Amino acid sequence: MTTWFEKIENPKLKNTKKEKNSGLTGIWKKCVSCKEILSTEKLMRNLHVCPFCNHHYRFGWKDRIDLLFDKESVEILETKSQSTDPLEFSDKLPYKEKIQNYQQRTGEHDSVVRLTGEIVGQKVSCAIMNFSFMGGSMGVVCGELITQTFELALKEKIPAIVISSSGGARMQEGILSLMQMAKTLSVRKKLRDQKIPYISVLADPTTGGCAASFAMMGDVNLAEPNSLIGFAGPRVIEQSMRQKLPEGFQRAEFLQSQGFVDQVVPRNELKTKISFFLKMFI
Ligand SMILES: [Zn+2]
Repeated sequence: MTTWFEKIENPKLKNTKKEKNSGLTGIWKKCVSCKEILSTEKLMRNLHVCPFCNHHYRFGWKDRIDLLFDKESVEILETKSQSTDPLEFSDKLPYKEKIQNYQQRTGEHDSVVRLTGEIVGQKVSCAIMNFSFMGGSMGVVCGELITQTFELALKEKIPAIVISSSGGARMQEGILSLMQMAKTLSVRKKLRDQKIPYISVLADPTTGGCAASFAMMGDVNLAEPNSLIGFAGPRVIEQSMRQKLPEGFQRAEFLQSQGFVDQVVPRNELKTKISFFLKMFI
């Protein structure tokens, strides 16, 4: 039975592999979007954006810190929170072991990094989601760190920023992962009551439980070009609605045209744009 299952390749995983293979390794790479041959070094210097077609490749949290924050202003806030694995979940590997593998491989704690830092001199409380850690999935640790980001903003009366990049709730934690949507939003509401600004940046991809909670609830929702943003996948929606979805559905530009995203901002303009909104709100 196991052998039979292994032969089936999930189409979603197939795409992920394709993106992975086109990752920034080697000296040259072929752009996944325009097929031009690019120098990897040049692409990295260009903030992982294709100079020919403006395709935005995924961007790590360390690169985002360098891009957005003033030099030497950042303090990473460590966490010791761990999932208790209440379901004792196991597929090919026990869930706890899987987390440990990711921690060893990436050197990171979970799918969110929490920090404080200054953006053009303005101190903010920030959380950056890390897609390379289990697809940026939201379990109890992720929910707790997003909540703590908002709580610090409340305590110090400084703006909050969350940069999302997530495949959604972490199903290995069952209902507890879904509860993070309510947990994060209850603190987000306190920010609104206290009139403390919250800027949400949606990077590729922001889907599932994150899109359905804090990622869409910024006072300003910014998105990187062509980011995939949505709750359920397009195939599921097409099947349940029994109609063809419009061109570019669930991409940042389409969501902007429908009013879900306020602005689509190219990566090289993100710092200036965030700083503009911070000054506007404060
Ligand atoms: Zn390209």
